[in-house]
Formats: sequence, C-alpha cells, structure tokens
Amino acid sequence: MPLKASSGPIVGDHDVVLLDLDGVVYLGADPVPGAAEAIGRLRAAGHRVAFVTNNASLAAAEVARRLESVGVPAASTDVVTSAQAAAVLLAARLPAGAAVLVLGAPSLADEVAAVGLSPVSDADSAPQAVVNGYSDQLCYADFCEAGLALRAGAWWVATNLDATIPTARGLQPGNGAITALLEKASGRRPVSAGKPHPPLLTEAVRRTGACSPLFVGDRLDTDIAGAAAAGMDSALVLTGVADPRALLAAGPTERPTYLAGELGGLLEPHPLTRCSRAEASCRTWRAFLDADVLRVRGQGDPLDGVRAAAALAWAYADRAGHAVPAVDGLPGVTTLRGA
Ligand SMILES: [Mg+2]
Repeated sequence: MPLKASSGPIVGDHDVVLLDLDGVVYLGADPVPGAAEAIGRLRAAGHRVAFVTNNASLAAAEVARRLESVGVPAASTDVVTSAQAAAVLLAARLPAGAAVLVLGAPSLADEVAAVGLSPVSDADSAPQAVVNGYSDQLCYADFCEAGLALRAGAWWVATNLDATIPTARGLQPGNGAITALLEKASGRRPVSAGKPHPPLLTEAVRRTGACSPLFVGDRLDTDIAGAAAAGMDSALVLTGVADPRALLAAGPTERPTYLAGELGGLLEPHPLTRCSRAEASCRTWRAFLDADVLRVRGQGDPLDGVRAAAALAWAYADRAGHAVPAVDGLPGVTTLRGA
C-alpha cells in the first residue's frame, strides 16, 4: 500500500504528535535546523507535542533541559522515556515494595522507586526482577549481581534493545549490547520496554491522553516499526538515520504512513500516490519498472519522486519476495546524517 494521502496538513486528524528525539529534534548536542520552529507551529495549531526516547540514562527533566538548550520549550511532563515505561511494566507485575535490581543510571533507579518498588543493586537482596538500561558507568561487578539474580529466576525487563548509542565519537555499545552480554551469561531473555516494542509508545499514549496520536521518527526499524506495533500512524522524517534508499527497502512492518522531509512537512498536505503493477506516480513524478530496474523521473518536489518510487518498490517486493534489484534516478533528498 502506498503512503497515505492527506488533503490538509498531515497532522490534521491527530490530537497528539509524539516525536522521537535524536535525528528528529536534535542531532547530539545540535538542533535539527527548523525543528524548534516547526514544533512551535504545531503547538500554535493546537496539537499537543510530546517527546519519546529509548534513552534510559537521562531523567525526563534532564531531557526537557536538553530540549530547552536547542530552543524547544519543554516540561518534564512532555517527555516519556523507556525507563518510565520499564518501571510501569515492573509495577504491573510485582507487588508494591518488591525489590528490583537496577543495572543502569541513577535516574532508572529513581523511576523504579517512583512506581512504589524498591531499587537494589545486589543479588543478595533477593530481587524479584532485574531491570537494565544504558549507563556509561557500569562495571563488571554490576553485571555479576544482575547475572546472579537472573540465574536465581528474577523476572527481567530491558529498557530497550538498541545495539548502539550515538555519541560525539561515533556509535558505541548501547543497551542492546549490554543486554546481549547478560543473555549470554544467564541463558535468559528480557521483555523490552523500548521501541520497536509497544510498552513505551503505549505509555506515551497513556500519559498524554492521546486519542489519535501520530508518531514521528527518523529510523525505520525502531520508530516506524514501533508505531506499527502500537497500532498508530507514523511519519518518517529524513533528518536523521533513514534516507530515501532505506525507505525503498523497508519491509512491510517498517513502512511509514507519511513521508516528510523535516518536521515542518507535518503542517503540509500529503499528496496522493497512485500505484499499479508496473508504475507509480505522485504529482509530477513517475516511477516505472524497466525490466528489473525501477526508474524515477520527474521534476518539482523531490519528496514526491521518493513517494512514487517507494510505492512501486514496496509493491514489487511484496509480489516478488525480494527487493527490486536496481533503482535509477531516485531524487536526492539531502539528509543531515547518513545511515
Ligand atoms: Mg532517532
């Protein structure tokens, strides 16, 4: 199915806009150009905006301060973290006051305490559960305690399973890598709270009271797949990880509802994409199959070329069982950070 059309602004039917952070609002310490202004316009148009992050190492208040530093006014109640979602999962399963071994940042322990559970750091406290989240301060002894608790049968929640975490020096081991170490040592598998698993977005909906949320992200495998798993519409922006070529290669669970170049695109209509067996079109752009080459031709807004090409590439892959072998003429849409 091609991207959905919207005769009015993409956000029109959505009461709450849930935004991923890195690659959408900021890139590390730097703002995504135009994002702060677009968020201001979304709010002025009456949309509640909330920020959703898999990063469990920062408290919601710290995330809000980081948003302020890139020009986006935000309160801690506008932020939902995977640490909060993990704490909610634990509280739903465990009796009040139960001991939970926390392997992660102090803010993760704070979230566990905030839901009425007792954070501990050693296996001798007989924790009923282990929760692990990213922290750059973990040491081997911490892993030993978590490993012992898991071997003793404690229930296990990971805040998220991102293999890497972006830093100024490049990609470094993320909570997924930390979790893999514990899996290897314990033979156990955790429940994950973060995207693409539903608990984080479910918690974001609960906290914002959203009736018709739109989730906006820059990654197909976590953001867009996560929105699909949570049953909500999504928009992909091209200011972060995913580029047009990745969009064309997206599997059925990684295809967004809408495509926007950047956040400002949420306030614009989404043109109709038509797709038949061998051809797709979007406004002045056309994509067609020439033997096994997908060719894209047109002029005007290059996003429309990407929209047409994606529709045809997805139809081809669903029919053939593999991606279209070659793509020619896919318009360049400048991304701020390549995959
Ligand atoms: Mg992101």
